[in-house]
Amino acid sequence: MKEMDNKEIWKNVLLELSKQIKKSDLITWFKNTALLKVQDNTAIIGVPTVFTRDWLNNKYELELANLLRKFLNEIEAVQFEVSTALANSDDGRTIDIKKIFEESGVSDKRARKVRAKMEVRLVEGITSKLMNPKYTLENFVVGPENRLAHAACSAVAGHPGGAYNPLFVYGGVGLGKTHLLQAVGNEILNNDPNAVVVYLPSERFINEIVEAIGKRNTIEFRSRYRKVDCLIVDDIQFLAHKEMTQVEFFHTFNDIFEAHKQLILSSDRPPKELNELHDRLRSRFAMGMIVDVQFPGYETRLAILQQKCREHQVLIAAEVLEYIAYNVRESVRELEGVLLQAIAQAQLENRVPTLKSVADMMVKLDKKMKHEELDVGVSASTAKTVDDVINVVSEYYRVPRSELVSEARRKEVIMPRQVCMYLIRSELNQSFERIGKDFGGKNHTTVMHACEKIVKQLKYDQRLLKDVSVIKREMGL
Ligand code: ADP
Ligand code: MG
Repeated sequence: MKEMDNKEIWKNVLLELSKQIKKSDLITWFKNTALLKVQDNTAIIGVPTVFTRDWLNNKYELELANLLRKFLNEIEAVQFEVSTALANSDDGRTIDIKKIFEESGVSDKRARKVRAKMEVRLVEGITSKLMNPKYTLENFVVGPENRLAHAACSAVAGHPGGAYNPLFVYGGVGLGKTHLLQAVGNEILNNDPNAVVVYLPSERFINEIVEAIGKRNTIEFRSRYRKVDCLIVDDIQFLAHKEMTQVEFFHTFNDIFEAHKQLILSSDRPPKELNELHDRLRSRFAMGMIVDVQFPGYETRLAILQQKCREHQVLIAAEVLEYIAYNVRESVRELEGVLLQAIAQAQLENRVPTLKSVADMMVKLDKKMKHEELDVGVSASTAKTVDDVINVVSEYYRVPRSELVSEARRKEVIMPRQVCMYLIRSELNQSFERIGKDFGGKNHTTVMHACEKIVKQLKYDQRLLKDVSVIKREMGL
């Protein structure tokens, strides 16, 4: 093959990439980028901004290394370097992205969403998915919800094939199972680069087995897997109803186990709840160590956000992180997603993420997102009276009842009064007119403004959001 220069190589990489990712993504993230040089088996890629660097580092590092390797065998890693000069359109090192699309003939509509397989072939034709080197045991934030899982993983990484075999990690989606499993794999490889560590999502593992069964060479399949030092199969709940696959897996499992090699499995449920799996397979899974990962509490969520900020080398105001930690209550993946979105949006608009911008973004991202409190809903709760609301608010804010319903303009009273009106309106569905009368004969527009103000403020004021939800809870709403 004729020697290509860096620009040509980069162009080819982008051409390949254009077949895998959306046109808009390619333009957003790869405009004004260049392959600057190759040094010590590392490709140095120039990018125009710190933000592009972080984004590419996070999302495309492995893919780019794989693609570059197609043209430069020796590449082992990629590194990103910020060079603002690249943003000049006449910088000779960059590629015109539009031309890429003309050449590849891929229009946005046709852009295939084929992701690079990112697989590595190990000894004797055994295939493993490439593990993400970013998943380590050190950068996994430990809290009470995952402490045992983390400890078990550390123990296995330090002594594979030992007492915790198999290691079975279970828990809901996006709670860190894959992170932990790959972290163990990475650590075993760190300690012994010659170890044969195979990481496969169960779908991929099932394919392997089905293929072997189809070719009638399951014997060969089994003998291949005897070479494995550590077999990691992620999300094994997908083995359900796959009869033949389960039988084959059972044999492979036994071979590896008897050779005192390590097995690590993950699932969304504990073994005893994997009803669709053969009993004998389930009991094998339950033989070693079973640990779970739970959704982390507020403190751990906040620590995770801080950790992710360090990894992405960004500084974000504490109150913004607190707001995200408080409001995201689905999964750690979502937590990270919101954080990245917040960074991305702010960077595109060239400002820092603020409480308000993040709150707005989150509301847009998921209208339902735990902001139920925002709804000026028409709840028909007749069990509560206006008096109840006034009493609870008065107690909560330690403002005398008489002052709450008076004309007093003391700063400490204004906000509790507005909250009170808002709650009466939203929970008891009283008219503005009526509320005005209850509050010392106020004009209905005054009441309306007060309610609107609270609705708006709830969108970004975490403190207020907390206050209102506590008050509601106290009223049994
Ligand atoms: P699962 O496999 O359970 O669906 P993942 O392992 O893919 O979840 O985790 C989703 C994301 O959340 C990953 O980016 C992972 O790094 C991150 N994550 C989850 N838990 C933690 C944690 N305790 N500390 C740091 N990152 C975490
Ligand atoms: Mg996973």
